[in-house]
Parts: sequence; C-alpha cells; structure tokens
Amino acid sequence: MKPAPFQLLTAPDLPAALPLLSDAAAETKPVAGSQSLGPMLNLRLARPARLLDVSRLPELRRVEEDADAITYGAALTHAEFEDGTLPDATPGWLPAIARRIAYRAVRNRGTIGGSLAHADPAADWVNTLIALGASVRLAGGTAPRDMALNDFITGPLATALAPGEVITAIRIPRRTPAARWSYWKFCRKQGEFAKASAAILADPARGDYRVLAGALDRAPVLLPDARALIDGQADASQVVTAALPDLSPARLTLQITATRRALASLTEGTPA
Ligand SMILES: Cc1cc2nc3c(=O)[nH]c(=O)nc-3n(C[C@H](O)[C@H](O)[C@H](O)COP(=O)(O)OP(=O)(O)OC[C@H]3O[C@@H](n4cnc5c(N)ncnc54)[C@H](O)[C@@H]3O)c2cc1C
Repeated sequence: MKPAPFQLLTAPDLPAALPLLSDAAAETKPVAGSQSLGPMLNLRLARPARLLDVSRLPELRRVEEDADAITYGAALTHAEFEDGTLPDATPGWLPAIARRIAYRAVRNRGTIGGSLAHADPAADWVNTLIALGASVRLAGGTAPRDMALNDFITGPLATALAPGEVITAIRIPRRTPAARWSYWKFCRKQGEFAKASAAILADPARGDYRVLAGALDRAPVLLPDARALIDGQADASQVVTAALPDLSPARLTLQITATRRALASLTEGTPA
C-alpha cells in the first residue's frame, strides 16, 4: 500500500523547526529514520498532512559530555552507537544494545530518539535505557524540559510528548567499570520484536539497582525488590508473578525465564 499524500518539510535548525511543529492546524509530524513511521504511513495507520524531517537538525546530532552523564542528540542512529563512533557513558553497553536492534539496514536509518518517541513496548532502547536511568530532553512546549524516561513512556506506543514537542536529546548517567548490566530478550529470530525481555542494572557506587520487565502489553515495569533479586535473596518467579498478575501463563513463563537469564548473565559479569 502507498501512503496518503503528505508534504515533506525540512528546516535548517531547531529554532526554525519548532514553529512548523507547533502549528496545530497544519498537522505536522516529525520524522527521523522513518523505520517505524514509514510502515505506519504505508499501511495508512498514520495520515499526517505534513512531515518534518528532524534527522539532520544540528541540535539533534550533538553529543555533550559532563562529569555525571553524556547527552546524546535524538537523531543519532542505532548504527552510530553500534560502531562505537560516539563516546559511551557505560563500559561498552550502548554498542551491545544497538547491535541487537533489527538488521543493519534498519540501524543505519533508525534513531535513538525515534525509537523512544515511538515507544514500542518491545523496543530495545526503551527497555534498556529505563533500566540505565536515562532521561529525555524535550523542546517545543512552553519551555524546554527534562523527564525521566520511565515517566516519559506512559504506555504501549504512548508517551508524555505534548503536541508540538520533540525529543532533542537523551541523557545517560555515566557508569563506572564496576557497574554491571544485563539484557535478555526472547525473539524467534533476529530482527523480530521481543516477546519478553528483562534488563538489569547494578551500580553499587551510585546505589542504583534496577530490574525491568519489558515487551509487555503496557509500559515497561520496574520490578520491586531489585537489589534482593540481584543479590539472590529474592526469587524471580515470585517477584515477576506478583508484579505482573495479568500475564497469561505462557507469557509469565517467558518473562520469568528472561528475568532469570538476565540475572544469571549479570552474575557472570558479561552483558547478555
Ligand atoms: C524490520 C524492522 C525490525 C525492527 N526491529 C526492531 C528491534 O528488534 N528492536 C527495536 O528496538 N526496534 C526495532 N525496529 C524499530 C526501529 O528501531 C526504528 O528505527 C525505531 O523504532 C524508530 O526510529 P526512527 O528514527 O526510524 O523513527 P521514525 O520512524 O522516523 O519515527 C517514529 C515515531 O517517532 C516520532 N519521532 C521521531 N523522531 C522524533 C523526535 N526526535 N522527537 C519526537 N518524535 C519523534 C515520529 O513522529 C513517529 O511517531 C524495527 C524496525 C523495522 C522496520
């Protein structure tokens, strides 16, 4: 199927782009790599009158470093993370996350900001960056604002983006070499979205312990008792079952297994 007709706009920079997006009457949607929006246009699930290409806005292609975190422009591609061309706020985890997204052709075009804005519950950046304590920077509303990614993702394909707002950047706290991380996802084959996933962070120096259940029919869930799970003092089956009582028996089994495998690979000290 072909998309409904639309006008494709470009802008030289963010200040020129924002008024185009905030004109409610003009129905303008941002597009970055088009790896999620493109199929929706083709299926006519989305029919915006205008698309604004944000993939080359200089403000969305920057990397800024400070002592506590690295802030990545929203239009950086999965492939740029995969190739290690960007500084890494973690001990090598960001390329490992990127490498597992779809196929190289998708990674060449798809962007980190587009993935978070699309908010697919199975998306790899969505799940792992919540576990890593990332936040998003938004512009286009009454004032620029920062928001924890966990608050930004409000449900499946749903975010806290206000009309006319764009994600400009993603801030990822720096992790020390002693921090440990793990991610496990069930896919029938590479490039398919996960049926269940688990992401874990253990960063004793910062007191951050998170165990996340992803690829659900809702926003990702940070499980209670994260530190006890990581220390082996709590049972994954009991915690996951109590936290996700609505899962079918088959989905529950997958989720418990994903959590156990992610915990096991954390113990081994290698990213899953
Ligand atoms: C075959 C295939 C397999 C895939 N497999 C996986 C996978 O295994 N794991 C995975 O995580 N993903 C997967 N994806 C999705 C892929 O990673 C996309 O690249 C990503 O979801 C969207 O990024 P994008 O830049 O292409 O965004 P687009 O498709 O351009 O946009 C997606 C949505 O985000 C909005 N948007 C884009 N940029 C911004 C911004 N800066 N601010 C606000 N809104 C914005 C758009 O308006 C649109 O609503 C797959 C895609 C395909 C086609």
